Amino acid sequence: MNRANKLTDEQYENNFEELTPPFTRNSAVSEAFRCLYCFDAPCIRACPTHIDIPTFIKKILTGNPLGSAKTIYESNWLALTCAKACPVDDLCEGACVLNEKGEKPIQIGRLQRYSVEYYLDSGKGNLFNKKSFNGKSVGIIGSGPAGLACGAELSLLGYKVEIYESDKVPGGLNTWGIAPYKTRQYDSLREVELIKNLGVTIHTCVTIGQTISFDELLNRHDAIFIGIGLGESENLDIPGENLKGVSGAVKLIKEIKKEKWSSIDIGRRVAVIGAGNTSIDAATNAKRLGAEEVTIIYRRSENEMPANNFEYELAKSDGIIFKFLTSPIEIIGNSSVEGLRCLKMELGEKDEHGRRKPVPVPNSEFEIPVDMVITALGQKFNAEFLELIPDIKISNRKLLVDTDTYQTGNPKVFAGGDCINGGKEVVNAAYDGKQAAHGIDRFLTNTP
Ligand code: SF4
Repeated sequence: MNRANKLTDEQYENNFEELTPPFTRNSAVSEAFRCLYCFDAPCIRACPTHIDIPTFIKKILTGNPLGSAKTIYESNWLALTCAKACPVDDLCEGACVLNEKGEKPIQIGRLQRYSVEYYLDSGKGNLFNKKSFNGKSVGIIGSGPAGLACGAELSLLGYKVEIYESDKVPGGLNTWGIAPYKTRQYDSLREVELIKNLGVTIHTCVTIGQTISFDELLNRHDAIFIGIGLGESENLDIPGENLKGVSGAVKLIKEIKKEKWSSIDIGRRVAVIGAGNTSIDAATNAKRLGAEEVTIIYRRSENEMPANNFEYELAKSDGIIFKFLTSPIEIIGNSSVEGLRCLKMELGEKDEHGRRKPVPVPNSEFEIPVDMVITALGQKFNAEFLELIPDIKISNRKLLVDTDTYQTGNPKVFAGGDCINGGKEVVNAAYDGKQAAHGIDRFLTNTP
């Protein structure tokens, strides 16, 4: 592989510096002063966890950031990661009424970060009311956002909660999967600590089906919640995929999250296959690691690309090249990547999702010289143990659950987060985890 030149430590730090700095006390109060504290506020409806946004902002204005943090945590246990990584333009801030007045929306994400970090820095300990132990226990598989949210909520409801995590560091997606210029591992581990302080136990390096069987877990606990996320990149299924220099986006971002940037080999010319938010994370991270040219290859047009607008603009400002209506058919090279053979595409009839299907243009084959290929066509879960559980159904690589209770076909087993929705935002997983906790509580207390 033709490797990009290594940068100095200072250059890496500058490249991965956080995109949005925190508010000072004064700037937070000035921003809170702009809020209209709307009745029936649209920002609340636009937040998947329905945080009472006007109330938490009002508490910042009245000098009560701890109360503000408590309001936020009542709805969302992953409030710090969400404050930094949520696509706020598409959610709360996009719905703020100030947009309609032609004004800048309230910076809800930054205000949320202000209150939550104030609380986490304050050392004030537990702000939350916890019921006494009810004699029942719940096992949770996976310590990502869904598992953590479910565990936190169940712990406050009086359950003994044990989380089983296959990695040696807990936090799942929040620890390993978000670009470091949005959140660092440190942020995720602070949230993990908060949830452990509520009484949740996390066992790391435990792989279900190897370290412990699923049946053993079922015997040990009154109910099980599966929040395993989607930890692996989908394959491209084209020749050359096993060449040196081909990496899944998830694997690359995990390496980057360790913050040992100088030890990561990145190609001088990188192709990223796919145009979702993870593809953009992979592309902008490759550029920040020193790649000279990064190209995103997508088989449909700009209008169909799944990445949100913020990510697209960020990629363009980082100098990422976009090749739309282009489909890779072979990765070329002897032992390592030397190029990518592609076909030009055009849009044909609509598919079952209403998106126009890409169709190859005859005789349009061409090659792009690249030294590295990052695959980011989507993610899948890797959990063979699931196939052995009777009554658990998987369809389109998603676990099927009851949409109200989050219960699977096995009444003792619940699931939430990316493994049921195919991959959404952290905030959706946080919501699922909390709702599933109440589904489990209703099941174990025989409450309709
Ligand atoms: Fe404040 Fe905007 Fe929400 Fe209204 S919509 S309460 S102005 S943040």
